[in-house]
Amino acid sequence: MAGVVAMKPLASASLARQLQPAARRTFAISRPSCLIAKARPAPRTVTLSTPVLRQSFRRAYSERGTVSVETQQKVKKRGFRVLRWTWRFTYVSAIAGLVYFSYNIYMSRHPNEQQDPDPKKKTLVVLGTGWGSVSLLKKLDTENYNVVVVSPRNYFLFTPLLPSCTTGTIEHRSIMEPVRNFLRHKKAAVTFYEAECTKIDYEKRCIYINDDSEIKGAVHSTEVPFDMLVVGVGAENATFGIPGVREHSLFLKEVADAQAIRKRIMDCVETATFKDQEPEEVKRLLHMVVVGGGPTGVEFAGELQDFFQQDLKKWIPDITENFHVTLVEALPNVGSLITKFDQALADNAHRSFPCSPSN
Ligand SMILES: Cc1cc2nc3c(=O)[nH]c(=O)nc-3n(C[C@H](O)[C@H](O)[C@H](O)COP(=O)(O)OP(=O)(O)OC[C@H]3O[C@@H](n4cnc5c(N)ncnc54)[C@H](O)[C@@H]3O)c2cc1C
Repeated sequence: MAGVVAMKPLASASLARQLQPAARRTFAISRPSCLIAKARPAPRTVTLSTPVLRQSFRRAYSERGTVSVETQQKVKKRGFRVLRWTWRFTYVSAIAGLVYFSYNIYMSRHPNEQQDPDPKKKTLVVLGTGWGSVSLLKKLDTENYNVVVVSPRNYFLFTPLLPSCTTGTIEHRSIMEPVRNFLRHKKAAVTFYEAECTKIDYEKRCIYINDDSEIKGAVHSTEVPFDMLVVGVGAENATFGIPGVREHSLFLKEVADAQAIRKRIMDCVETATFKDQEPEEVKRLLHMVVVGGGPTGVEFAGELQDFFQQDLKKWIPDITENFHVTLVEALPNVGSLITKFDQALADNAHRSFPCSPSN
């Protein structure tokens, strides 16, 4: 009957069984069916009613296989190309970053030569090395003037982190930047005197300065002439006229204040744990009072509470019951001064320090 293909047995079942393990071993090279086909005894007679059709089918089949492998290889190649370029880009970026970083370190250690002061230029005197003065100095083109800086502090202090120094969370050196360090990176040389300005004479156009440090030389007060003067001496601590504040409390404005507070806290804690200490005395020693519910007061009270929770409680479990922090604020709401900055901060302060008018 036309169209019927006489099917010949491919191989005996036993031969196929023998070939299977070998086929598995050579899986990477060829498929078992191929091996079987190879091992098949040569057909004596092949009767194909439609040989052309079969041939074309085989060709089509094999072509289809070739195309799909090629496509797969192309996709693989594209994937590898993307990976290769990503790797190259990362590699080059890392090297460029390293070079830039090294260059910056080198430049910070080896700044360019500075121009010497020029008598023909005007003299600009800057008082203070706080936020105001340092912001000006960092932006100032010192080539245009002869710049002189006068301040009793030869470093800039990053005050927002000062409360963290009171408990040792941050080391004070981390928030101090020597003034001379950034001054030597200016294009023209800047003169710095560690001294306090005691008087300004506008008529004579000069200021009087005094070396107020512990070590004084033969000359410790003199005058500095100026053409232009910038006054950035900040503000003094306010006591609001309350008697005893200066004598009996500690301020928090300078590094020395933070160090004194830190020493006082630890002294109170150690004295409270002294042998046979009276319970009432322990309570008194471990009661810390912070006056002022502004940003500094709230931050410091928070630092104190964190110090107690995270360190003191673990080191000395005995003091857990007696350690208290009280925040005193004259206005009705704790954190009322924070409100000037952000309402969310004030709300957070309220939650952290519940109001108790009697305290
Ligand atoms: C603990 C703390 C936390 C703070 N946190 C924040 C905050 O998070 N955000 C914020 O905006 N503000 C904060 N502040 C406030 C901020 O620090 C001040 O507003 C800012 O320092 C004021 O800058 P200033 O340049 O006017 O004065 P200061 O920074 O106080 O600088 C004054 C400079 O003048 C010098 N000087 C003093 N007397 C003389 C003199 N006679 N002759 C020459 N030099 C003199 C001083 O040595 C000092 O270098 C904080 C303040 C403190 C104390």
